[in-house]
Order: sequence, then structure tokens, then C-alpha cells
Amino acid sequence: MPSCKDITEHGSDYLDRHMPWWKRPGYWMHLLVCVHCRRYIEQLRLTIETIGRSPDAAPPVVKTEEVQQIVQQLKQSAKKPANKPRDI
Ligand SMILES: [Zn+2]
Repeated sequence: MPSCKDITEHGSDYLDRHMPWWKRPGYWMHLLVCVHCRRYIEQLRLTIETIGRSPDAAPPVVKTEEVQQIVQQLKQSAKKPANKPRDI
């Protein structure tokens, strides 16, 4: 049976089914008896699912006009006179 270290090191192989079939029963047995690794694998599975489903997985496309608009807004807010403390 694999150790906890084996489970965490090869967790993504197990989930991606890149693991040889003859290694899988050892994984199942370990996950049956070890709550920590079960939680770890579940977290890993959720993470992989979330990343795979996320529309933001690809780098965001930023339009030049949007950047110029943001720069313009920043310039305008910088021009505004700051509230100076009154001299007493
Ligand atoms: Zn374990």
C-alpha cells in the first residue's frame, strides 16, 4: 500500500488517470483508511475541476481603449487638488 507521501506526490496522476492500473487498488485502499489523504485528493480534484472550467484560464484580453481610459481616469484623479490640512 502506498504511503501518505506517495499519495500526495502522485495525486494528480491518480486523478488524471495517468497512473498504471495496477497501482490504483493500492491508492483506493489507502484512501479508504486515511482521512487526510482523502481530503487532500478531494481538494486536488476540486482545484483541477475549477481551473479546467474557469473561463479565465486563458490570459485576459485587454483592449487598448480600456487601458487608455483607465490611464486617463488616473491622470484626472491625480490632477485634483488634494485636501490640504488647514494652517492654524
Ligand atoms: Zn494517507
